[in-house]
Amino acid sequence: MLRTGDDYLKALRDGRRIYIGSELVTDVTTHPAFRNAAHSYARLFDFKRETEGMSFEENGERHSFYYKQARTIEDLVFRKNGHKLLADFSYGLLGRSPDHVSSFVTGMTMKPEVFDVPGHGFPDHLLAYYKHLRDNDLYVTYAVHPPAGAKNWSQDAKAHLFDSPSLQVVASDEHGITIHGMKMLATGGAFVDEIWIGNLTPIAPGREKEAVTCAIPVATPGVTLWSRKSMERMAESTFDNPLSSRFDESDVMLFCDHVKVPWQRVFTIGHVDLSRAIYLDTAGHCLGNHQSNTRFWAKLQFIVGLANKIAQSGGVRGIAAVQDTLGRLSALEATLAGMLDGQVLAHEAIGNGFVMPNRRYMYAALNWCQENYVHICTAVRELMGGAVFQMPANVTVTQDEALSDIFESFWSTEKESALDRMKLYKLAWDMLGSEFASRHLQYENFYAGPSFVVRAYSMRLAPWAAFDGIVDKLMAGYGPGTGREPSGAPLTDFSAAEAVAG
Ligand SMILES: Cc1cc2nc3c(=O)[nH]c(=O)nc-3n(C[C@H](O)[C@H](O)[C@H](O)COP(=O)(O)OP(=O)(O)OC[C@H]3O[C@@H](n4cnc5c(N)ncnc54)[C@H](O)[C@@H]3O)c2cc1C
Repeated sequence: MLRTGDDYLKALRDGRRIYIGSELVTDVTTHPAFRNAAHSYARLFDFKRETEGMSFEENGERHSFYYKQARTIEDLVFRKNGHKLLADFSYGLLGRSPDHVSSFVTGMTMKPEVFDVPGHGFPDHLLAYYKHLRDNDLYVTYAVHPPAGAKNWSQDAKAHLFDSPSLQVVASDEHGITIHGMKMLATGGAFVDEIWIGNLTPIAPGREKEAVTCAIPVATPGVTLWSRKSMERMAESTFDNPLSSRFDESDVMLFCDHVKVPWQRVFTIGHVDLSRAIYLDTAGHCLGNHQSNTRFWAKLQFIVGLANKIAQSGGVRGIAAVQDTLGRLSALEATLAGMLDGQVLAHEAIGNGFVMPNRRYMYAALNWCQENYVHICTAVRELMGGAVFQMPANVTVTQDEALSDIFESFWSTEKESALDRMKLYKLAWDMLGSEFASRHLQYENFYAGPSFVVRAYSMRLAPWAAFDGIVDKLMAGYGPGTGREPSGAPLTDFSAAEAVAG
């Protein structure tokens, strides 16, 4: 089933409880902090339903593309193209869009045996949950990191484990478990149907009560979401803040106050290694972050377009140094496009007849995005100069005839009206300079974990033996008796090219 936007909005009116400061919000479809974004998601559901290439048919039912389990390279191309269409819809600004965590879940179902640890893992629960999400076209995000207060846990603190603020299992019976505590940071949490709770951050032995993976509907009794400041509410108008007014996806802390979870929604319990292995030893992390790479690509294309428009508007596009900047930006965009194609082309088998994108290339792209985003944004801000601050505070200036006349006469350029210039620079500032933009900088830095964690994935998967072999083979080709002889005899006959190629 593919939901309509209206179906989605109806489901959001489920009595969920979200705090903005001390204010309790229960209907995100009407509240000024959330309503525009809620309607953007609704339009996204309609767009997905109506657009070719964003759904597939199985056993007579249509499903969203991100629930497709990949068996062939064509399936991977289908998934990648779907991610791109979906990301283009929001200019790459919805990070935890409906195709992110659902791709994690789909990837896990391609190797469910990882969950098969008696007493601790439940592969059948995972498969049933996947069907539940897929068949009802649900939107799920995740909170898979402990809050700050849980970090300095030690053996000494073991006796006080229940003092940890991190979400943990506090009771269980034949119906299910009771969880209590906090998890961070569920992006999209205000707009999803479901939240997946787990542990991507490794947890130490002794913290088994925290080693729970489960999923709950947002409106489950005992669940409250604690939201950061809403950028949507701060937006002056669509003209002044065209992005933050519509695509503020929300970031919320998840607090569970003795929340009951039925066993069918518990996927792992009481096993610290298993609670993390389900992401890394299945295709979960790979499919999910391949989506992130593709989403970043959409955002990058948008930013490169902005850079070009700004250079034109500023009348500097003909200058060699500016063209150098534009050339560099477009090379970066093409680099990422190539990395995405490479992930698909060099795909890996994961068993059970399934394939996933190349993990090393995917993690390399993740690291590349994390390292480059700030430099890309800085380059475009440099092109902007001070133009944005030359613009009136907001669009109301156009409502006053006298002011509007002055504005059009003195702010326009040979090729552009004052209003068009204002429109472009307001958009650019929303994307690159506003508080919304700053949140995006932080998002691109941390959504997949801090940089040392992202690089650790590459460290883990690199073929170190093969790399060492190159060096070993080269060094084996010469010794103290080879090379330039004291007499000035010719250099060694050993060929470096042969050693590397061999
Ligand atoms: C906008 C945004 C959206 C997010 N969305 C989600 C989401 O949807 N779901 C989710 O589960 N999580 C989400 N996160 C959380 C994210 O995964 C965490 O922020 C991330 O794991 C980093 O944890 P932290 O914030 O506690 O930082 P910390 O771990 O406290 O790190 C702070 C700094 O210290 C450095 N540091 C810490 N430990 C070490 C070390 N051992 N060695 C070297 N340096 C170290 C880090 O590199 C970093 O620079 C989001 C975060 C942000 C900012």
